[in-house]
Amino acid sequence: LLKLLIFILFICSNNRSNICCNHHFANPSSLSLKQLKLEGYLSFEKLNHAAKDFGNRCHFLPLAILYPKSVLDISSTLKHVFEIRTRIDLTVAARGNGHSLEGQAQAYQGLVINMKSLQELEMKFKINEELSYVDVSAGELWINVLHESLKLGLAPKSWTDYLHLTVGGTLSNAGISGQAFKHGPQINNVYQLEVVTGKGEVITCSEEQNADLFHGVLGGLGQFGIITKARIALETAPKQVKWIRVLYSDFAAFSNDQEDLISSQSTFDYIEGFVIINSTGLLNNWRSTFNPKDPLQASNFSSEGRVLFCLEVAKYFNPEDTYSTDQDIDILLSKLSYIRSTLFLSEVSYVEFLDRVHVSEMKLQEKGLWDVPHPWLNLLIPKSRILEFAQEVFGKILTDTSNGPLLIYPVNKSKWRKGTSMVTPDEDVFYLIAFLSSAMPFSTGKDGLEHIIDQNNRILSFCEKTRIGMKQYLPNHKTQEEWKHHFGPHWDTFARRKSTYDPLAILAPGQRIFRRTA
Ligand code: FAD
Repeated sequence: LLKLLIFILFICSNNRSNICCNHHFANPSSLSLKQLKLEGYLSFEKLNHAAKDFGNRCHFLPLAILYPKSVLDISSTLKHVFEIRTRIDLTVAARGNGHSLEGQAQAYQGLVINMKSLQELEMKFKINEELSYVDVSAGELWINVLHESLKLGLAPKSWTDYLHLTVGGTLSNAGISGQAFKHGPQINNVYQLEVVTGKGEVITCSEEQNADLFHGVLGGLGQFGIITKARIALETAPKQVKWIRVLYSDFAAFSNDQEDLISSQSTFDYIEGFVIINSTGLLNNWRSTFNPKDPLQASNFSSEGRVLFCLEVAKYFNPEDTYSTDQDIDILLSKLSYIRSTLFLSEVSYVEFLDRVHVSEMKLQEKGLWDVPHPWLNLLIPKSRILEFAQEVFGKILTDTSNGPLLIYPVNKSKWRKGTSMVTPDEDVFYLIAFLSSAMPFSTGKDGLEHIIDQNNRILSFCEKTRIGMKQYLPNHKTQEEWKHHFGPHWDTFARRKSTYDPLAILAPGQRIFRRTA
């Protein structure tokens, strides 16, 4: 009860501070925006939700929210903001589903564009043997793209672990999940984009047409334009999924198996993994939805106090292929060196598998634990240094994983599209390591924000001290110097694209890379 009370106080205090900053009435920017002729509409009220995101740590109240009905609404708004530059210095942030962590989709006293208003644009499918795709609004949620595609027996190839994110939001980062080793991230699986630049121009781009903008926008953190439409690659969708988890106590054995699996021709369709440190609860949680292959041996297995590494894999299949799929899985598993008593299996529909995190979301929503602060840290670590990273971080810096999942899996850069804005470590194989912590508001203990941030900082400074070659994913940097370091040799291209497509630095101010100029 006390925690709930503290949480309510926390929400109220945030709302109060937001409301205090809102004084748009005599603002020249709002007067100017009100002249716009739009199919959709602008709102200067009820702005609080645009000052919130999943991270729940940054709250920047905008001046207004645009609810566009068409691409033209976005283009004429940006043209207006660009052309009246001497009089106002507005910034503009596209907001997908607002699942950023550090205010990246916010614009303090600026204009937030609610991309989900564009969802009404119809999805258009093209199906033929060589190339199937769907044209979708960038404000569409991936879960909707999945459901619509499945009606035609198709589905996108590459996913994120959670599907209640917009197409434009994940394409602005990369969109990485357990299929990325095979198909590359989501930015690989898009054929064409429609983009409104910071000057308000509407440009169609692809590998063949306006390729510089196409590459820039993919993984471009919203810096070069607002994606309004995307052409997403599709494949034939499977019906069912065999979902498997096995445990290791030796990190080297675990990561060797992961690396072998991602580089084999004949392998699983999805490969991820996670770390369990001192968290028996977590283990028991998922054990209840998975069946142990050998129940007796599995019940004797004790995880107490150990650092364990869980390999999570999945094989897609159709019911008529059950027998051969089981045989393929047996062969693949026989080559791995997991602890034999810890083989857990589950069989679910393709949709259940892809939408798995939503189930956890519902449970956390019920308990009021979804809207807490999320000081997440996502790192990309080169393969050659992963052992060193694991030795220092798992069990030493991080002594338990009870604040949230800790994902770890390798991906293969040779499968990634070249020339996009997304930066990765210099090696062909690197690991995504996601520290997905939730913090209890006002807690000063191990589940509190301060403690988790301190842990994150220790991990970051270990990476820096050892020059491990780490890059942040969903990067969060405070100064342009840090961003230059993040982009390394790619900074010049990034800055050149900015001055070409958004010369006044109007777009995505919440990334804190460039400052708005007059
Ligand atoms: P927003 O938070 O609304 O926006 C993100 C950034 O993109 C902002 O800078 C915004 O201005 C910009 N932007 C948004 N829409 C557009 C557009 N149409 N055009 C140009 N710029 C735009 N990521 C992964 O890669 N893999 C995962 O498995 C994964 N799992 C996640 C699970 C959860 C529960 C959460 C909360 C996040 C996860 N993410 C994952 C991170 C997620 O991909 C990013 O945070 C993504 O940006 C969120 O999409 P969104 O629609 O909420 O974007």
